[in-house]
Amino acid sequence: MAVASQMSQAVFVTVSALDGGHLTLPERLFVTDADPEKRATVPSLSFLVQHPSTQTSSGGDRKSTTNLLFDLGVKRDIQGYTGAQQAHIAQRQPVTTDPDCAASLRRGVAGSNTEEHDRGPLLDPAKDIDLVILSHVHWDHIGTPSDFASATFAVGSGTLDLLKNGAGPLYPAELFNDDELPRSRTVEFPPVPGSIYGAALQIPQHTATLLSTQTKLPPSTQEWSWRPLAGFPAVLDFFGDQSLFVIDSPGHLYGHVNLLARVGERRYIYLGGDCCHDPRILWGEKDIALYDDGKGGVRSVHVDTGAAKRTLDQIRSFVNGESMGKGVEVEVVMAHDGVWREQNRHRFWPGNM
Ligand SMILES: [Zn+2]
Repeated sequence: MAVASQMSQAVFVTVSALDGGHLTLPERLFVTDADPEKRATVPSLSFLVQHPSTQTSSGGDRKSTTNLLFDLGVKRDIQGYTGAQQAHIAQRQPVTTDPDCAASLRRGVAGSNTEEHDRGPLLDPAKDIDLVILSHVHWDHIGTPSDFASATFAVGSGTLDLLKNGAGPLYPAELFNDDELPRSRTVEFPPVPGSIYGAALQIPQHTATLLSTQTKLPPSTQEWSWRPLAGFPAVLDFFGDQSLFVIDSPGHLYGHVNLLARVGERRYIYLGGDCCHDPRILWGEKDIALYDDGKGGVRSVHVDTGAAKRTLDQIRSFVNGESMGKGVEVEVVMAHDGVWREQNRHRFWPGNM
């Protein structure tokens, strides 16, 4: 299909929320003026983005939909985490892993595909998922990549180095899993020019795609480059048709990215990953908590608190500023928003947003 003919008509994607397990966050580590005892069990949401493209699979089949996942939630089997990760996860209990992202794809939201064994899965994680984009590689977003045996993984620049070597004393290698992602099916987005992290030590470095790569990516990959859009300094047009944008969203963890999905003529959904863990921070009602880092300093849940605040400022002005045009509506959903989950069960797969 010629790109030019595609461009002449607006292309939309469909977005469905998926349950990817739950974890429990002590409020004092996340928001200012918190009740020191309060803990909230929150979801780690995944999202299915369906793009109306055609693809040639290894068997030569044509498909009318590309299925892309944004984040994979919590690993189904906690034993799959490293020892240090399990020690950290012990402080986030209760943790639930059923349904995880794969089960949510097969069964749909509670009750929608109860006869899975008779009717088959709604979507088969091993066969039907073409692409996975991870907002970042913290344990509660990385899920079980091996479930997605035919998917290509796309992650922020520096992510593979971070998984292998960690990044400084607060982000030691033992808190990551080097062999988490299939190297031959993983690509990093291009490095962001003038990245806010600069050239300081311990910043994870970009890893080039293997020459022998088995990644399957849309043709737009050749033209992937970060450009400013609507107040964001670095945005990449994933499919090359303005239906799905990857937004560089620094601050939380090296390589952190968001997605902006065009779901209608005048409607966008902004998937904010871990830009904040409580929407009250985005809307300015609360601030990012600081706490003792155990090494003589203070830290937040973000790798760079100042950068995280600037990213939130950009999201807030983007949403409030009608940046995509007059009367264009943008809905923001963060990965751990339990209130949104409760109020939007009908928008979980096989429903859509
Ligand atoms: Zn995180």
